[in-house]
Amino acid sequence: MLLSWWDGESRVRRITGRIIDIRSDTSSLPTEEMREAMKKAEVGNDGYGDDPTVNRLQDLAAAKIGKEAALFVPSGTMGNLVALLTHTQRGHEIIAEDQAHIVTNERGYACVAGLEVRRIRGHKGAMGPHEVEDAIITSRSLKIDLICLENTHMNAGGAVVPPDNISQVCDVAHKHGIPTHLDGARIFNASTALGIPADRVVKHVDSIMFCLSKGLCAPVGSMLAGSRDFIAKAKQMRRVVGGQMRQAGVVAAAGILALEKMVDRLNEDHENARFLAEGLSSIEGIELDLDDVQTNLVFFDVGGLGMDAKAFASKLLDEWNIKIDAREKSLVRALTYKDITRQDVEYVVNAIREASAR
Ligand SMILES: *Cc1c(COP(=O)(O)O)cnc(C)c1O
Repeated sequence: MLLSWWDGESRVRRITGRIIDIRSDTSSLPTEEMREAMKKAEVGNDGYGDDPTVNRLQDLAAAKIGKEAALFVPSGTMGNLVALLTHTQRGHEIIAEDQAHIVTNERGYACVAGLEVRRIRGHKGAMGPHEVEDAIITSRSLKIDLICLENTHMNAGGAVVPPDNISQVCDVAHKHGIPTHLDGARIFNASTALGIPADRVVKHVDSIMFCLSKGLCAPVGSMLAGSRDFIAKAKQMRRVVGGQMRQAGVVAAAGILALEKMVDRLNEDHENARFLAEGLSSIEGIELDLDDVQTNLVFFDVGGLGMDAKAFASKLLDEWNIKIDAREKSLVRALTYKDITRQDVEYVVNAIREASAR
């Protein structure tokens, strides 16, 4: 039985053309307050360090994440790449989790930084400290310059890597004189899920990248943070990869509000993701592990419906105005964020239930 508003609503959506985009939290829209702040932002030439709004964002980001300094970069991918270029030497090696975003989605470690990667298969995104140490000890030919971690771990379904694991891996790395970098694109989702402030979660890592443009809703931008010395070098590397900006205060203004106003509401996204996952898990032919849904990501498998992910996604778009992320084979990804309301999630669950029945 369908709810009475249901047929009406799906018709309305088809007429108005409103699309529910749950492919990624990067589809989050800047708030009205952000747009106002962007319009009024005081700016200067950031190439010379003269943009007061960028400087304010960098100071705020450093304080919030508990590092000495921070650098504004156009994207998370560039932030990670700049970190790699700053920490490593061409021809050397890094260690990363097997499905780390840096390895599977970015590739700059090889194409740009000229690094080899030693991949360690983790458990729900967390590498075992003993395996990391084994990899360090057995690396005879290539020098390992950096250990990369990720939290939340995207390809592990937004899993939260426990702070104890991070500190154990960092202890091993530091014991061997190797620095650590955390890809913390969604670190505030991790800290929200843990109920622990982000600066404590990342206390032991030498550098961290986090995104302002995902759940935090800024239109562009990520931060790289670390020691003052590290950030001074990173600034040179940002220039090398073309990331030096000018009157960037226009976008930094939104980033300030992202950090000040948008962190405390992430819980709502997690509740909506859980609601979505619970709804989906009750649909025959859809497979997902509710234990894996820890933050704002929901991965599920539609193989039981006799469809692959691409066919499933195009059906949802054509018939229900829903954009969802088709991954490999029959794996589908959905994310929640500020612009996806509880009612939207109800609509999505109902749509998928209907799409699955036919
Ligand atoms: C999105 C993401 C990035 C890269 O951020 P962009 O701003 O899209 O370049 C890096 N790591 C993880 C885990 C991500 O989810």
